Amino acid sequence: MTVTELIKPRPRLPEWLRFQLPTSDSFAQTRTLLDKLKLHTVCESAKCPNHWECWSKGTATFMIAGDRCTRACGFCAVTTAKPFALEDDEPMRVAEATQRMKLKHVVITAVARDDLADGGANHFRQTIEAVRKLNPSTVIEVLVPDFNENDAAIETVLAANPHIFNHNLETVRRLTPSVRSRATYDRSLSVLRKVKARRGDSIYTKSGMMLGLGEAEGEILTAMTDLREAGCDILTLGQYLQPSLKHLPVTEFVTPEKFSKYKTCAEEMGFVHVASGPMVRSSYHADEFALPSGRSGRTAGVAREV
Ligand code: SF4
Repeated sequence: MTVTELIKPRPRLPEWLRFQLPTSDSFAQTRTLLDKLKLHTVCESAKCPNHWECWSKGTATFMIAGDRCTRACGFCAVTTAKPFALEDDEPMRVAEATQRMKLKHVVITAVARDDLADGGANHFRQTIEAVRKLNPSTVIEVLVPDFNENDAAIETVLAANPHIFNHNLETVRRLTPSVRSRATYDRSLSVLRKVKARRGDSIYTKSGMMLGLGEAEGEILTAMTDLREAGCDILTLGQYLQPSLKHLPVTEFVTPEKFSKYKTCAEEMGFVHVASGPMVRSSYHADEFALPSGRSGRTAGVAREV
């Protein structure tokens, strides 16, 4: 049998996952600006299916600390390789892009930098501070790796007072070893729990999962319960799509009706905001979650038990 015969073709996408190509020139403007400022985005690096839509609307999710990741998760299209040194002026370039794109809500993520003692936490801190200085009214959301649960690294990010601290659980407990080989389910919950224990109601915590990797309904509900027990405020649920034939296959295309059902369950569990649908990603329409007035996210607030 030839190699071509051995590779299974990817299944045809259902109707609800067909993408629209851009119809405005905003996409090209976003492309030009990001190139000019030499910024990476997770939209491109992770082959996000919403790339066309988000960039056409003039939004993007910045990926700092390079485009080479020290981990090799089975679902993720970001390149695994020895990373380059951090660029000192990157925080300022992200701040400038936020200003020029007039973002009211910015999402900043990074590759996992297990090669650095702080996992890149100080680079996050500098980026948050630079963005806030130039864009004082912009809501700042960070989507961080687990920092190997390094307390000092978590504290470093929190010291910059992001409004939303996002760390993805990605999948249910049983599938975590095959989906994220260097991460653990309990470590991710612990990171979220620690943030709530340190900052309480002065910060929103957020997490997300991809569906369609072989999880059962009961396992999804258990993961949602575990997230609530860790004090997680905001939840995103989206369809996993295989970025290439080298990545984990899709086992199910979850219907929009099922996503709606999970949204209702999550809201009943007490999440303050839930985005659940086939095209949902951590940062998809992230600005739809409006901070209540008076919640600037810039004060330490009172920690609470979680
Ligand atoms: S959903 Fe997020 S990662 Fe995907 S294109 Fe939109 S902003 Fe980028």
